[in-house]
Amino acid sequence: MSKFDTAKIFQTYLSHQDIKHYLDDLLERYSSKIEIFSRAVSYEGREILTVRICADVQQKRPLANRWCILIDAGIHAREWITVSVALFVVQQLLEKDEISAKSFRNFEWIILPLLNPDGYEYSREHNKMWRKTRRPLGPKNTRRCVGVDCNRNFNVAWTIGSTRFCSLLYRGERPFSERETKNVRDLFRKLRPTCKLYLSLHSYAKAILYPRAYTRTLPRNWQMQHTIAEAGADAMKKATGVRYRCGSASTVLNRPIGGSSIDYAHDIEKVPVALVMEVASKGFHPPEPNIQKICEECWVGIGAMVNCLAGSFRSVLKGSGTLHLR
Ligand SMILES: [Zn+2]
Repeated sequence: MSKFDTAKIFQTYLSHQDIKHYLDDLLERYSSKIEIFSRAVSYEGREILTVRICADVQQKRPLANRWCILIDAGIHAREWITVSVALFVVQQLLEKDEISAKSFRNFEWIILPLLNPDGYEYSREHNKMWRKTRRPLGPKNTRRCVGVDCNRNFNVAWTIGSTRFCSLLYRGERPFSERETKNVRDLFRKLRPTCKLYLSLHSYAKAILYPRAYTRTLPRNWQMQHTIAEAGADAMKKATGVRYRCGSASTVLNRPIGGSSIDYAHDIEKVPVALVMEVASKGFHPPEPNIQKICEECWVGIGAMVNCLAGSFRSVLKGSGTLHLR
C-alpha cells in the first residue's frame, strides 16, 4: 500500500488510486458491512467504484423494510471536496458504526464516491477547473474539444442543454452518451423501487436543492422534499452556524437546467426525495487543512436529512427487496 496513510484521508485530496486503496482497506476490516464493486469503467478505463454499506452485506434473502439511499460525488470533476465528503460518509458509517444508529438501520447505503474519475484525475493533474468527462468529441480528424457535462446528460429535458462541443455545459450527442452517466442510470434501474433518497454532491453554492431543475413547476411532493432539505440545513446551522439555502434547483439557481441527475431520479426513476447538496466551501478546492471540518459539517446535514426521512415520512418507505448489484 505504498505511501498510503489512512490517518490522513481527510487531510488531503485523494487520487482515484488512493480512494481504491482506502476502500480496499475498509473492506478488509469490515467485510460483513461493506461491499465494493464496479459495474462500469470510465472512458479512459478507470473503474467507477460503487460502495454498498449495510448491517449485513452477506444477507441475500429479501429483507422487509429495507430501503436504500444513493449518494454520488465528483459528477463535476473540479468539485474535489464532494469526493472527500462521500468518503467521509463511508468512514462514519463504518468506523463510527453509524450504520447501527436507530434511524439508519433500515437503510442500505449505496455510495459512488467518484462518479467521473477521468475528469477528476485530469483536474488534479492538468487543469484544476476541469468539469466534464474526458471523451474526445467530433470526427476523429477534427477533434478539438473534450468531454460532456454529466449533469446535463440525463434523459430528462435533455434537449434544452448546450449543443456546443466546447461548452463547459455540453449536454452530449444524446442522453447517456457517457459511460459515467449510464452507470448511474443502470444503478437506479437495479435499485428500483427501493431507492428512497438520492443525494448528489456538488460544490460550492451552499444550498440544498430539490427538483425540478428544468422548470419552475414543482413536483407534487415538493413540501416533503423541502422539509427534508431544511432539516439538513437547520442541523448544520445549529452545529457550525453555516447557512444553506433550500429550494427547488430552478428557483435557487434562477435558470432552467436540463438533463440533471436529480430530475432524472425523481421524474423518471420515481425516487421520492432527490437532492443536490451544494457543499459550502471556499471555491472548488478548499485548502486541505479545511477538508475534515467541511466533511463533518456535511455529515451533520446528511444525517439530519436521513433522520427526517426515516422519522417523519415513513409513508414513502414502502416497497423493498434484496439488492443484487454486482
Ligand atoms: Zn457541480
